[in-house]
Amino acid sequence: MRIGIMGGTFNPIHYGHLVTAEVVRDKFKLDKVIFVPSYRTPYKGRRDLISSSHRYKMAKLAIENNGYFSVSNIEIKRRGKSYTRDTMKEFKKKFGKETKLFFITGADAIAQMPKWKKAKELPTLCEFIAASRPGFKLRKLPPRYERHTRLIEVPALAISSTDIRKRLKRGETIKYLLPEKVERYIYQHRLYL
Ligand code: NAP
Repeated sequence: MRIGIMGGTFNPIHYGHLVTAEVVRDKFKLDKVIFVPSYRTPYKGRRDLISSSHRYKMAKLAIENNGYFSVSNIEIKRRGKSYTRDTMKEFKKKFGKETKLFFITGADAIAQMPKWKKAKELPTLCEFIAASRPGFKLRKLPPRYERHTRLIEVPALAISSTDIRKRLKRGETIKYLLPEKVERYIYQHRLYL
């Protein structure tokens, strides 16, 4: 089995994330992609970050019509800081040695990987897919990480969660930036106002 682990804050999830997961699934011949909303991303403030329960529910609504996609609450259940190394270790244990794992996330985050908790262990657990909008130059990683990292350009990543949150604050439309069900959920629960 080849499984993609799609890590992110998903604050909120949008079409850029969904297109990334689908393109990576297709390109790397993955059997499935599991979206893992983080509980608390290390090194980041909490301003604008809504509850993990809302972010998890929106991710579930967003992936509903793709049979290859699922959402895991592994980091939400663990609470505390969501270290990728802990998450990948748990998935490795769950799926066994025969399964190849791919950690998919934004290229900005991957550039910081050498500073992550127990970073040297990471390339022994999975391969890394760094997603960015076209033209992004991934900062040179030390060879032990670079050997295990692929950069993939996804034009749909012009959509960003930050921009969506700003639009909501200004009362601007977010139509066509994320799935309709997620849009409805945001308005229903008055999120990001
Ligand atoms: P971030 O800094 O909020 O995001 C960096 C950039 O990547 C943003 O442009 C973001 O766009 C984009 N992005 C995030 N997730 C993406 C995805 N799955 N696919 C495509 N683009 C994505 O990063 P983050 O979301 O907080 O963290 C990313 C992942 O790295 C999480 O799983 C986090 O737990 C992990 N991480 C681990 C450690 C550690 O183990 N020490 C430290 C830092 C991060 P949007 O804002 O539009 O999503």
